[in-house]
Order: sequence, then structure tokens, then C-alpha cells
Amino acid sequence: MNSEDFMHLALAEAKKGDAPYGAVIVKDNEVVAIGHNTVKRDNDPSAHAEINVIRSLTAKLKNPSLEGYSIYTTGEPCPMCATACVWSGLSEIIYGASIQDLISVNQSQINISCEEVIAQSFTNIKVTKGVLKKECLELFK
Ligand SMILES: [Zn+2]
Repeated sequence: MNSEDFMHLALAEAKKGDAPYGAVIVKDNEVVAIGHNTVKRDNDPSAHAEINVIRSLTAKLKNPSLEGYSIYTTGEPCPMCATACVWSGLSEIIYGASIQDLISVNQSQINISCEEVIAQSFTNIKVTKGVLKKECLELFK
């Protein structure tokens, strides 16, 4: 599977969300966890797709470290989720639509890029942008 295949899985997962965001975590070219936004059904403002998928995987692994894992997410991680990526030690972030793209389709966002959060942290995470960006933005139409 390539990065577009993984993003297609995240896109399909996004359609299950209270808001149309989906995320998958991959290691060694295999999907190990998948999640979507459950803010409304869980009455939890932190239940973004990325937080949900990180929580489900660390619980399954019984380990808070996700070093060596990659997260594919339809939208650029917000500052909260980017911070969770830092704390979990994820090695790579691959996203579709950027925060700027999401703002351009009237989504509420905090206008700080995930790269800005990472740059201010103690670690480095590889960031790849714009994978299936058009499809990720079409979720909001
Ligand atoms: Zn978030």
C-alpha cells in the first residue's frame, strides 16, 4: 500500500465522524489503528480523530510511545493533536488538507500549523502535506 491508499482509508473513516475527519496509524506498511471524530457522541471536545486513534493504539499496545509509527490524517493536526503527536513520539505525520485549507472552507480551526508546534518542541516529526488534499476538502461540501 502507498500513502494514497492509507489516505483513502482515512477518508472512508472520516465519513463515520461527527465532523468529517479520519486518521489511521501505520507501521511497517500495515494499518494498526483507525479513528474518527467523536466529539458529539462522546461529549468530549478532545475526541478528534487523531487523539482517538492515538488513544486506541496506545491502549492496545499498553505503551504510551508510538515511536516508529506514522499517522495519516485527512486534516492537518490542530495544535492539540499535534501536541499529542509530539508526546506520543510518533515519527511521521502525513496529512491531506492543511489548517489554511480548512479555514478556507469555513471550518473552525486554530491557525497554528503542526510544524510550528513541532518546531517549538523537543523532538522532530517528519511532515508530509497535501496527500489527496482535494478529496479531504470535499468532505466539507
Ligand atoms: Zn485536533
